[in-house]
Amino acid sequence: KGLKKYFPLKKGFGKGKTQYVKAVDNVNFSIYRGETFGLVGESGCGKSTTGRTLIRLYDVTEGEILFDGTDISRMKEKELLPYRKKMQMIFQDPYSSLNARMTVSDIIGEPLDIHRLASGKERQERIAQLLENVGLKQEHSNRYPHEFSGGQRQRVGIARALAVNPDFIICDEPISALDVSIQAQVVNMLEDIQSKYGITYLFIAHDLSMVRHISDRIGVMYLGQLVEIAESDELYENPLHPYTQALLSAIPNPYKDKHKERIMLEGEVPSPIDPPKGCRFASRCKYAKSVCNEAEPQLKEMGSGHFCACHLYD
Ligand code: SF4
Ligand code: MG
Repeated sequence: KGLKKYFPLKKGFGKGKTQYVKAVDNVNFSIYRGETFGLVGESGCGKSTTGRTLIRLYDVTEGEILFDGTDISRMKEKELLPYRKKMQMIFQDPYSSLNARMTVSDIIGEPLDIHRLASGKERQERIAQLLENVGLKQEHSNRYPHEFSGGQRQRVGIARALAVNPDFIICDEPISALDVSIQAQVVNMLEDIQSKYGITYLFIAHDLSMVRHISDRIGVMYLGQLVEIAESDELYENPLHPYTQALLSAIPNPYKDKHKERIMLEGEVPSPIDPPKGCRFASRCKYAKSVCNEAEPQLKEMGSGHFCACHLYD
């Protein structure tokens, strides 16, 4: 609710008062239990920062984060610990997110130790089970990350996230760094895991090609704000925001002709330090009218569950 995450710039950078990068700037949305919510936008739009702030890897600048109705946005670390166990993250880069000096068994076992979930034989059994869940073998457990392929490393990262039996996992571009041939395998595995354990996902991606398949609903971000939210199929069939339309036109679509014409985005993305006062997309929008430079469009419900922030629909 009203979530903001600002990063201060080094003092003296702008002379005088401290300036901030407004990475997430008043974002409102819900993620329902058991669903996959896709969060999409160009790199730098604030989607990873949103994800990291939601699970309190960052301090919150402003706003609330309600987890099962409890506001965790300002909890101290000790109070937060039980929530840390419920919320996990899978990172984009399986090459750098795993500790190179730890064996697979230690990487997966570490969260079990931190949360004191299992020790001794039980710990071993749990690790074996987790390896099996992600399609790795027992014999992999004493190897090091560099001995694996990218896809296998991502499986290790997923097993580590699953170790604590989380309710909610943020998948931050989990397949972007992988070979195309491996991407579908990892996505299918994430879906299998979800149906087996009833996990809720926030699935972050920079384009719309893979998210339709995995997401129930999708939110589109632009320069720190959500510009559109809709059910997955609805968003693809009836995109309302000009930015969503441009993103959709950029992906190959074998099923229909509707967005055949590629919409090229021109113009510059404004600075997140000093965003324009009206619509943040105005500098690139072919429909921009005078009101767009004056008033910030608010997210409004256009149809059942379909929200859009654009003056075209005022
Ligand atoms: Fe374009 Fe105006 Fe809509 Fe912004 S509010 S997306 S500038 S039409
Ligand atoms: Mg990112």
